[in-house]
Amino acid sequence: MPERIYDEQSVKRRYLWAYFSALCSDGERAVYKAHLGRLKATNAPLQEKMLRRMFGDWGDPTIASELSEGFDVFTDRVLLRIENEYPELLYLNLCEQCNRIVGTPMACICGWCGHNWFSRRDEQDGIAERALKRAERCRDDRS
Ligand SMILES: [Zn+2]
Repeated sequence: MPERIYDEQSVKRRYLWAYFSALCSDGERAVYKAHLGRLKATNAPLQEKMLRRMFGDWGDPTIASELSEGFDVFTDRVLLRIENEYPELLYLNLCEQCNRIVGTPMACICGWCGHNWFSRRDEQDGIAERALKRAERCRDDRS
């Protein structure tokens, strides 16, 4: 098995879209959705028209411009904005042993060094739940 390389920024990108998209604006979420549609269309070119309708048209000038340097660059801009505007709201579950971001906000084991904190599972669940709720409130406040 090839050794995994820890790339903190790519872990943050995944956290953002998987758990904290509530911190994104409607426009940012629309770009994300269109990006997903575009990915699906690469595997299903005959359904491209339908996918553009369902996911949002990635050819729309605003969306295309956001994605012009690639999805990761777009996501990094969103992360930067969120880290400036709400530095406390993007919760990253850090391993206390190796200080890397672990798989999910709820995780009690580090996939990098193997350290685990299952004995504090309830505490970790509470931390994750509160973080996700705070992010949701942020979405509510903006709409
Ligand atoms: Zn670790």
